[in-house]
Amino acid sequence: MIQQINLLLSPAEAIQDNQILKNIVATTGIRSNRITGFNIVRQSIDARGKAVKIQLQLSVFIDEPFQEKETFNPELQNVRNKPSVVIVGAGPAGLFAALRLISLGYKPIVLERGKDVRSRRRDLAVMNKTGVVNAESNYCFGEGGAGTYSDGKLYTRATKRGNVQRILQLFVYFGAESHILYEAHPHIGTNKLPQIITAMREQIIDCGGEVHFETKLTDILLHNNIVKGVVTQDGSKIDCSRLILATGHSARDIFELLEDKKILIEAKPFALGVRIEHPQALIDSIQYHCNYRDEHLPPASYSLVSQENGRGVFSFCMCPGGIIAPASTGPGELVVNGWSPSKRNNPYANSGTVVAIDERDFQKYGFNGKLAGMHFQQMVEQNCFNAGGGNLIAPAQRMVDFVNNKSSATLPDCSYIPGIASVQMKDILPKEINDALRKAVQSFGKKMKGYYTNDALLVATESRTSSPVRIPRDKETLEHPQIRGLYPCAEGAGYAGGIVSAAIDGERCAEMAVSLFTY
Ligand SMILES: Cc1cc2nc3c(=O)[nH]c(=O)nc-3n(C[C@H](O)[C@H](O)[C@H](O)COP(=O)(O)OP(=O)(O)OC[C@H]3O[C@@H](n4cnc5c(N)ncnc54)[C@H](O)[C@@H]3O)c2cc1C
Repeated sequence: MIQQINLLLSPAEAIQDNQILKNIVATTGIRSNRITGFNIVRQSIDARGKAVKIQLQLSVFIDEPFQEKETFNPELQNVRNKPSVVIVGAGPAGLFAALRLISLGYKPIVLERGKDVRSRRRDLAVMNKTGVVNAESNYCFGEGGAGTYSDGKLYTRATKRGNVQRILQLFVYFGAESHILYEAHPHIGTNKLPQIITAMREQIIDCGGEVHFETKLTDILLHNNIVKGVVTQDGSKIDCSRLILATGHSARDIFELLEDKKILIEAKPFALGVRIEHPQALIDSIQYHCNYRDEHLPPASYSLVSQENGRGVFSFCMCPGGIIAPASTGPGELVVNGWSPSKRNNPYANSGTVVAIDERDFQKYGFNGKLAGMHFQQMVEQNCFNAGGGNLIAPAQRMVDFVNNKSSATLPDCSYIPGIASVQMKDILPKEINDALRKAVQSFGKKMKGYYTNDALLVATESRTSSPVRIPRDKETLEHPQIRGLYPCAEGAGYAGGIVSAAIDGERCAEMAVSLFTY
């Protein structure tokens, strides 16, 4: 018999099999010699009480041979001579679309403007050191897309859109540790993602698919509104009747191309704000109600939300033990994001803290039309770049100073490598965003005692939270309503936010692109 049981253990007990077994015996009353083994189905942290506990959901094998969880088989096959589908963008959406096509018996041809992960790493090092951005190879562009040097948190709310477990299993198949399969908030870490992404690419090529780096799509060839092929930056043409466009939310030239070609797109609301950094020890002490974090507990995180002046303000992409990273994709603009290594062992905790904005805001600042949100976003990024003084020096202000409209005379240490400069946020952020953020950090301080402190730092700007443009598509077929054979995919098209939801959308687009492979 297999029995499902739940245990609430101390962090130290939860990492020891013999302690877990002892607790199974105590909870069920079943003798230990009848228990042949157990699998962890789900693991989460319960920090509600004074003593923080680990909640385990277990499948316990009693009086029958123990079986480890089934190993996952992605059912990949040789597709060298099979019909092909072109995928533009090798982010999570593009890579998972390619793997799905292979499992369905189609050949993916992946075009990626950036470089492979290894060459990309060198460009990131140069950017962090010199503040000079390579517009084709950065934290957003290159093999694995924005997902490679991301934080690698794999938590998603998109559970109804597809098979989250399958995505996690694929990550494990390509080298991620298996604990991501049962943790409530799985995390891989920036140091581990590049090898996993490389393994995916090698598999795609081994199966007969193609992956072309430094190959930027510059035009889409159409005849009577049907996809006929694509053109890349050197003028080469690739014929295709199916095109999965998975270019992410930072490919502004793609949005401009679609607009120029009069392919239907729409302005989309998004959110914009700052990264907020606290000492990790402070967040640990608040969340775990302690002076020092138990060595068996991970660095603590938080998730905060409020309504201010009729707008949603929320924390986003929290990186415990993390680093604030420069995520700009072009010169003269400043964008920040965050990541953490698998051990989350940096002394800082950062999260995006952003305010919802929409077309009314874009119009107020003189931006109209389908690219209004993108131009608004660009305006704020340029303000921030200029205010920092260039070379990706980021504007920063202490939290209480920010609320009191006071310049910060000194700034605390910050994880952001290119450096920070003391700038008042009110001078660079649109008033509506500034005002909502000022109220929000105070409300967050009431919800999380200790959060509101002048030891916390606001760093601007977190502007690439989701796409400022939607590329419409049919709900059922996922095909663009006007262009046959065009599949707008994942984050750039406005259908995903994060690694797992982008991967799910990549899989769905692959499935739909080949579901009626007749024209
Ligand atoms: C620093 C950082 C940390 C993050 N942390 C997390 C996290 O912890 N968890 C999480 O879920 N999400 C995180 N994200 C967000 C996550 O990475 C994205 O949501 C996800 O990568 C979106 O996937 P995508 O495939 O839709 O697009 P992208 O990953 O943006 O990929 C798009 C790809 O298309 C390529 N491309 C663009 N234009 C062209 C063109 N014209 N021709 C050819 N190729 C083109 C780009 O180079 C890029 O590689 C983070 C992002 C960053 C930058």
